[in-house]
Amino acid sequence: MENNTNDSLGRVFREAYGSEYSAFYRDVYAKRGFVVPEGWRPTKQQWFTIPTISKDDLTQYGYDKRAFRSLDELEWVYTSSGTSKRPVVLNLRNRIFEYDGPKAQARRIMFFRTSLLFFVYAKAGIASVSGDLNYPEATVQLAEEFQIDAIGASISQLRVFTAALRETFDKRNIKLIVLGGERCTEDGFRFIREHYPNALTVAQYGTSETHGMHAHSCEELARLGTDYVHFREQSAFPELIRGAHDDVIEDTGEEGELVLTVLWEKNMFPVIRFRTGDLARRVAPLCGCKEDTYELLGRTEFDRALIPGGQLKSEELERVLAPYRDSIHEDFELHVFLPTGSVRLPRLELLVRSRRQGINLSQLAEVVSKEMRVGPERTIASGVEDGLYLPLACQELPVGKPSAGKRKRILTHE
Ligand SMILES: [Zn+2]
Repeated sequence: MENNTNDSLGRVFREAYGSEYSAFYRDVYAKRGFVVPEGWRPTKQQWFTIPTISKDDLTQYGYDKRAFRSLDELEWVYTSSGTSKRPVVLNLRNRIFEYDGPKAQARRIMFFRTSLLFFVYAKAGIASVSGDLNYPEATVQLAEEFQIDAIGASISQLRVFTAALRETFDKRNIKLIVLGGERCTEDGFRFIREHYPNALTVAQYGTSETHGMHAHSCEELARLGTDYVHFREQSAFPELIRGAHDDVIEDTGEEGELVLTVLWEKNMFPVIRFRTGDLARRVAPLCGCKEDTYELLGRTEFDRALIPGGQLKSEELERVLAPYRDSIHEDFELHVFLPTGSVRLPRLELLVRSRRQGINLSQLAEVVSKEMRVGPERTIASGVEDGLYLPLACQELPVGKPSAGKRKRILTHE
């Protein structure tokens, strides 16, 4: 932690804790028995003792109780996309989201209805238009008439949009794709290269609760075709923590939950050590930037499930399914049914979507069981042998309307 950042962190902490408008942090810390001495300026080691806050902490307070500035300073109000199925968090902000990542000379962008992308591009000098994938024909017509040369979307949204495009739309005109909202797999990048050969693909990361866009790929990372990002030093201080105990991960490589402190001044609601629910790890530097490089791995709620003796991870399943791309589509759902009634063991069911030539689903279930690791020394098959859960079954994923939202790939059913 640089001195510079340390000063910013200290400032945010003092402003929030001593706020005349909101007692949020004083309340939350008091409940946790965390005592803040008068005039406290946390050192680096002390910083890590400050309790983390979660979405649950936030939603217990109405937005009027959480506003850290006078409501007179408010410029607008927006709601979160609410994908986590928790109550929608109503945010107040008096600062514009910023996109200051690579622009590839794009001038007109289409993004889809997510609150986070509103207001972003105007400040970056890119005119924007909002599409709605519930109305694909109108959206595609709008894209053509607005002559977009950039798209801001999640990879799932981009797939839906691309499928709806008419032949008259020349995809070679797209110069920039700003990806966010969910992890883009290697397969996703291949899809982008096939359909949008001239686009620079920039990953960005932000959350509703932290009020903005905090991380994106630099030009060099984007050109390498990764979805790695740097956190913008002036925007947020990132930490990775391990498990429920708030142990801070300092090393490269280890996966943890991303915890953010937002450093913007005059924030309507400063978040301090906020547990985002998103998983990330630091990776070895691939570019010349001085900031750490992060890989975002998905959401604890969408891409992970604990099972006896281990953990299911969507990117591990992606790895195992990769050789079968000619036979199955890239989307999958892995369902975990927890024991109920007479069924005493958890049951695992993998849903995949076959391509035209089809695949033998029971063989696929066998391969996945043998190959998919759920812990350092354990595969699904070895867990079944040890009587921890029932054998994995594989079924066809029902064909439905393609989802335009964030995709859940691992689902647990109680
Ligand atoms: Zn870089």
